Amino acid sequence: MKAWFPSMVCAAAVSLSVLALSTASPGRAEDAPAPPMPLRVMPINDHLTAFYQGRPEQASVKPGPKHWPDLGAIFVGDATYAVRQGDTALVYDTFTDTASAQWVRDYLAKAGVKHFMLVNSHWHLDHIGGNAVYADSPRFATDATRTKLLAKRAAIEAGTEEGPPAITPLTVPDIGLTGATTVMIGTVRVLLRPEAIHSADGLVIELPDDKILLAGDTLEDTATFVAEPKSIPRQYRNLGAMRQWGFTKILPNHGNPEVIAKGGYGLGLIDMTRAYIRRLVEHSHDADFQTQTLESYVGDAVKLGDVSVWWAYHEAHANNLAVVAKAWKDKPIPAFDQLP
Ligand SMILES: [Zn+2]
Repeated sequence: MKAWFPSMVCAAAVSLSVLALSTASPGRAEDAPAPPMPLRVMPINDHLTAFYQGRPEQASVKPGPKHWPDLGAIFVGDATYAVRQGDTALVYDTFTDTASAQWVRDYLAKAGVKHFMLVNSHWHLDHIGGNAVYADSPRFATDATRTKLLAKRAAIEAGTEEGPPAITPLTVPDIGLTGATTVMIGTVRVLLRPEAIHSADGLVIELPDDKILLAGDTLEDTATFVAEPKSIPRQYRNLGAMRQWGFTKILPNHGNPEVIAKGGYGLGLIDMTRAYIRRLVEHSHDADFQTQTLESYVGDAVKLGDVSVWWAYHEAHANNLAVVAKAWKDKPIPAFDQLP
């Protein structure tokens, strides 16, 4: 396998048939824990399926301590995706925990899948929590994701990176990509595209023949979570370039389940995200910046039907205001219209 990696990373196309894939499909232990939240299965087309978890009404959330899976994924809703044809599936992200990831694997195995490959969108914990379920399978991510996870492995396994719960053992992707790579799942073309949006190590998936983008965390409804505020101008530019790729439907990991079930978002989700992060930086010197509401930022996009306001994003927006203020308070505001 190792000798094969370098040629694959540079190659334009990879056929899964040439991979020495594990065919072992470990049966689910009878006492395997149930997922922390039920999963919904949403067929998007005959080879793409969304698995969705969470997004509870605010009134149904019980009081008590909250942890990173609640705040980062369950409350805003969390989707993962599988591209499947015949007995082969590519799985994009693994939820926050192994029980949820195992549920997806079991579902696919029951549908006849014997060969799995995993692709991680980026290093954030709510995307890699169930990676251990694919310890026997080829696992792709950007090289930057691999580096990040290897550096943070001890903290993640100790539960000190974002607090509890720990992810242990942490299963790190074993194949690091540095450029766009095509994988064939049967006859379905799948483009893995490193893209520094939301986090510098991001990887989105394009299904060019379906004109679909699996966006990871590069786009969210109600609003993106700003993890790396200093690079917002670059992310703004990258979002503009991504918009030109040719896809017409967008499926994010965190979005409205009703929209995802109907096939996804239009390009307005990109326009809204660009406007949102640009406004954050442009207003970061305002005296009242910390009290500017989510509604005041996304109102135009809500009117256009591009996003809707979901309660759990008020906390994400408050976090965004705080991190943007910290990163930009002493810096000149860039002219976004003149970015190279
Ligand atoms: Zn993320």
